[in-house]
Amino acid sequence: MGDPGMDPGLDDLRDTAGAVLDELVRFLADSRSGERPVVSTAPIDEVEKLLELGRWTREGGMDAEDLVRFVRTYCGLGAAYHHPGYLAHQIAPSDTPGIVADLVQSVLNNAPLIYELTPPGAAVDRAAWRWMLARAGWGESGTGTLTHGGSLGNLIALVAARGRADEDSWRRGNRGRLVVLAAPSGHYSLRKAAAVMGLGADGVRPLPVDALGRILVDRVPEEIAAARRRGERPIALVANACATGTGLYDDLAGLAGVCREHALWLHVDGAHGASALVSDRYRHLMAGLEGADSLTWDAHKMLRAPVLTTGVLFRERESFDGLFEQDASYLFEPRMRDVDPGQRTFETTKPPIGLRIVLALAMRGERGLAEYVDRQYDLAHRAWESLRETPGFELPYEPESNVLCFRYGPAGDRQLDLRRLINEDGGFYLSSVRIGEAAHLRAAFMSPTTGAEDVDALGAATARLAAALRP
Ligand SMILES: *Cc1c(COP(=O)(O)O)cnc(C)c1O
Repeated sequence: MGDPGMDPGLDDLRDTAGAVLDELVRFLADSRSGERPVVSTAPIDEVEKLLELGRWTREGGMDAEDLVRFVRTYCGLGAAYHHPGYLAHQIAPSDTPGIVADLVQSVLNNAPLIYELTPPGAAVDRAAWRWMLARAGWGESGTGTLTHGGSLGNLIALVAARGRADEDSWRRGNRGRLVVLAAPSGHYSLRKAAAVMGLGADGVRPLPVDALGRILVDRVPEEIAAARRRGERPIALVANACATGTGLYDDLAGLAGVCREHALWLHVDGAHGASALVSDRYRHLMAGLEGADSLTWDAHKMLRAPVLTTGVLFRERESFDGLFEQDASYLFEPRMRDVDPGQRTFETTKPPIGLRIVLALAMRGERGLAEYVDRQYDLAHRAWESLRETPGFELPYEPESNVLCFRYGPAGDRQLDLRRLINEDGGFYLSSVRIGEAAHLRAAFMSPTTGAEDVDALGAATARLAAALRP
């Protein structure tokens, strides 16, 4: 029976959602055991066929049994992030607090763009960015906001930086040739942001870096001077904390010193690595952050929040307050600036994603979040220690985070072919990255089920599959 206001009825909802949840839990158990392949490489047309997307989108008619079967196939064709061999990308395997937060949100469908639409949603959002702000060390002076992803986070920070360089830029557009200084290893979202802001993607000027892509601090002053001589106005320098490809941190303290001297905004892209702030053992990697102006921090990476959950934090309240203020008198009142999520970001309608962070803190404790960071960073280090002793493996540097890059020497210039073989083999899922000119295999230790024995197995699988590569 249909229910007024809810179709199917509420009892149906409970039964259906319960059956789907059972199926999802089975998938997690399978993933954790490592018995299924970690990633499927089926082409999209085959996936579409196996999911019967043609039938379901044309004819509808899915009943409860079909639904459960559909979800099973859907899970089975995807990557298993809880698998011990999941080493590819920096998306965290889901955890209970985030799952529950999203379940609550999917039922309520809240959107606190203004406070009155969802007071508790606005409250958890503010509590979440205030917690991040305090961890950044800017609790007294600063402010922050939540947004969907580090890419949008970097855009927001750079728009704020532009606002400091030229207060009128929000209304009147860019005056002069504005540029952003960043390492070539800086995340590509910086170029997207620059393009969107009218600087052009090439408005991100590459800074000189060492062989591992870290900004050479001593060379920055001459780069700033050179840009100014060319008639450009640098609005910000972006540091990696850590770089997506290598997992290495820039010298934040050194860069903060140079930026202060040259009155340049320092933005720290900590999308991946800012979570080191919760760890007593790894916080030192973020030393110098106190001298930066803004920070992007993805909770969906090392805090295990669902995608996408990002904090954008500012050392000084004035850098950000009012940035997104719009003349929508039917919605916004200036006195609610700190309280209406919709006055604090690029999005308009937006879910209260702070609930994911608040529940993670409440259920895991900050200590629990730190334990995950420590465990995964330690694991990458242990993998480095063991693989560099394993014949054939070449490791260009000691890892600082949970990202580890390596080459398998005997595979020569066929590292990418080797990666494909490894991923097709089903036991491991790796990504790759270019360091200098050389392709490397890249492992991001994200799964809490990966252990030291998996690292040994990775070494053995790599050698076995590399042998199969030889013509
Ligand atoms: C992941 C990442 C981004 C992009 O973040 P999204 O949340 O994927 O938009 C930006 N910068 C760095 C350094 C990253 O690691």
